[in-house]
Amino acid sequence: MNEVQTPKKPLIYYYSVVLLLLMLFNMLVMPWFAQRQVQEVDYGTFITMTEEGQVARAEIQEQENQIIFTDTQGRTVYKTGMVPDPTLTERLHEAGVQFYGEIIHPTSPLVSIFFSLILPLLFFIGLGQYFARKLTQRAVGENSMMFGLGKSNAKVYVKSSEGIKFSDVAGEDEAKENLAEIVDYLHNPGKYREIGARMPKGILLVGPPGTGKTMLAKAVAGESEVPFFSMSGSEFVEMFVGMGASKVRDLFRQAKEKAPCIVFIDEIDAIGKKRDGQLGGNDEREQTLNQLLTEMDGFEDNTGVVILAATNRPESLDPALLRPGRFDRRVPVELPDLKGREEILKVHVKKIKVDEGIDYNRIARMASGASGAELANIVNEAALRAVRDKREFATQADLEESIEVVIAGYQKKNAILTDEEKRIVAYHEVGHALVAAKQTDSAPVQKITIVPRTSGALGYTMQVEEGNHYLMSQSEIENKIATFTGGRAAEELVFGSITTGAANDIEQATKLARAMITRYGMSEDFGMVALETLNNQYLGGDTALACSAETQSRVDEQVMELIARQYEKAQRILSKNREKLDELAQYLYEKETITGEEFMQILHRE
Ligand code: ADP
Repeated sequence: MNEVQTPKKPLIYYYSVVLLLLMLFNMLVMPWFAQRQVQEVDYGTFITMTEEGQVARAEIQEQENQIIFTDTQGRTVYKTGMVPDPTLTERLHEAGVQFYGEIIHPTSPLVSIFFSLILPLLFFIGLGQYFARKLTQRAVGENSMMFGLGKSNAKVYVKSSEGIKFSDVAGEDEAKENLAEIVDYLHNPGKYREIGARMPKGILLVGPPGTGKTMLAKAVAGESEVPFFSMSGSEFVEMFVGMGASKVRDLFRQAKEKAPCIVFIDEIDAIGKKRDGQLGGNDEREQTLNQLLTEMDGFEDNTGVVILAATNRPESLDPALLRPGRFDRRVPVELPDLKGREEILKVHVKKIKVDEGIDYNRIARMASGASGAELANIVNEAALRAVRDKREFATQADLEESIEVVIAGYQKKNAILTDEEKRIVAYHEVGHALVAAKQTDSAPVQKITIVPRTSGALGYTMQVEEGNHYLMSQSEIENKIATFTGGRAAEELVFGSITTGAANDIEQATKLARAMITRYGMSEDFGMVALETLNNQYLGGDTALACSAETQSRVDEQVMELIARQYEKAQRILSKNREKLDELAQYLYEKETITGEEFMQILHRE
C-alpha cells in the first residue's frame, strides 16, 4: 500500500528555523569575523610604529580604554589597550598621524524610536494575529492546529488494491470469515441499509502478540479497496493534556471525509484502559478515551467508517468501550494450530528460495506453539543460514535448525559445559522424557539436544505436538507435574546431589499445581471455589489472589503436598527403569541429540 499523507510542517516552523540561523550567525560568525580583521598589539609596538611613521590614522576610544589604528598601507587595523600617557597626543601630532577621539554617529531620534519601539511592537502584533487566526480556525474546525500538535498524524494508505489481501494471511479462518462480512459491507453498503441492518461500528481483534492482527486489519482494507487510516494507541497520548482528544477528533473528521474507509487503532489498551477514578489518574488518557467514546457515538450508523482495533489485553479495556454501539464485535485471533502453522510457513516460504520437497508438516509440528510472527522469523532465519553457508536455497535442515534458534537461541559454539555437567544435563533431560514416556506409553518428545543455547538453556527438548485438545483431565495434569519433576528426580537418583538446573521445571510444576487447586477446582478441600483470577491471558497469564491469608497458607500446603507426591512417583518410575535411564542418558551424552523415534527404540529394546 502506498502511504500518501505526510503531515505538512506549519509556516512558523520555517520562520523559526531562519530566525535561529540568523541568531547563530550573529553570535558565532560575526565576532569571529570581526576578530580576524583587527590585530591586537602591545602599547610599545604602537609607540614604536608611531615614531617610525608607520601609523596613518588613530582613533582613541577612551571609554573602551583602547586605541584603534591603521598602518600607512592601510591594510591592517590594529588595536591596543590604553596606558596613561599625557604626551601621547603631542607625539601623534608630531608624527603626522591623523587622530581623533571617539566618533559619535548621531542617529536620528526617529530611527532609534523605530528600532527600539515600533519594530518589536510590530513583531508581537504580527505574532498575536497569527495565533489568533490559528485558534479561530481551530474553533470552526479547520484543518490546522497550533504547531500541528492536535493533528492525528494517522498514516493513510490508499490504493489498497495493491496491498495485503486475505490470501496473504494464512490460517485464522474464523477471523477472516468474520471480517469478510465487513468487506462485503464496505463494497455494498446499500444492501445492508435496505434491510435496516446495522454494521458494527467497531471490531476488536484480540489475541497474543504476533498472530497477525495488524495484517488482518490491513487485509480488510486491501480487500475492500478503501482508504486505511492506521494509528497506534500510544500516538494519541501527548505530553499536553487535551492533545490526545484533539487528535481523536481530527482522525474521525478525516475518516468521515474519506468514508467509506477503515480506521485502525493498534494497541488500543494504551488509551482504552479502565478508568479507575483513582487520585493521580492519567487525565490525558481519560480525556482521550472520553473523546473516542463520544466520537464513536457521534457518527451515525452506516456512514461507511469501520473502526478496527487490536489489543493483547482485552480484559483491561474500559467496559464503556466494549458496549454495543462501540466495539460491539470481538474477533479472537489465536495462536495458529498445526494446519494454520503449516499454511503460514508456506506463505512465508514463497518469499525465499527453498529446496524441493520440504516437509512443512514436520516443521509445523516441531514449531508447536509458535505464533505467525515467529514462523515468519523461522523462515527468514533459515534463509540467512543458507546465505551463511553459501548455498543458493534453504533446506529442510535449515528450517529445522532455525526453529531451535528462534525459540531457544543460537548454539553456543565453544563448549562451556564440563564433562560432569554434560552428564548431569543428559540425565536431567532423559529423566523428564522417561517419566513422560512411562506414564503415557508414547513418544514424549520430538527431539532432545544437550547443546547449550544462547538463551541460557543447557539442553533443549522439543515436545511432541499434542494435537488440538482443549481440555486436560486431572490425571493428565498430575502426569505433567510428575514429568516436570522427572529431571530433578533423575539427578538425585543417579548423582545423589541436586543442581540449579531444575529452576524452570519447579516454576512450571508449581504453576500447574497451584492452578489445579485455585482455579480448576481439583482439590478435595476447596472444591469448586475460585481462589485466584487470571489476568492477561494473552501475555503470560499472571494471576491475582482472591482469598484470605489463612486459605492461602492452606493452598500453599496443598501445592507442596501435590508436588511432593508427583516427585515420589517420578522417582519410583525412574528407579524401576534405572537401566533404561542409564542407557538413554549415555546415548544422549555421546550423540548430544536424540530423536523421539530413537528414544522409543532404546526404551523398547530388550
Ligand atoms: P500482531 O498485530 O498480532 O502483533 P502482526 O499482524 O503485526 O501481529 O504480525 C506480525 C508479522 O507476523 C506479520 O508481518 C507477518 O509476517 C507474520 N504473521 C503473523 N500472522 C500471520 C499469518 N496468519 N499469516 C501470515 N503471516 C503472519
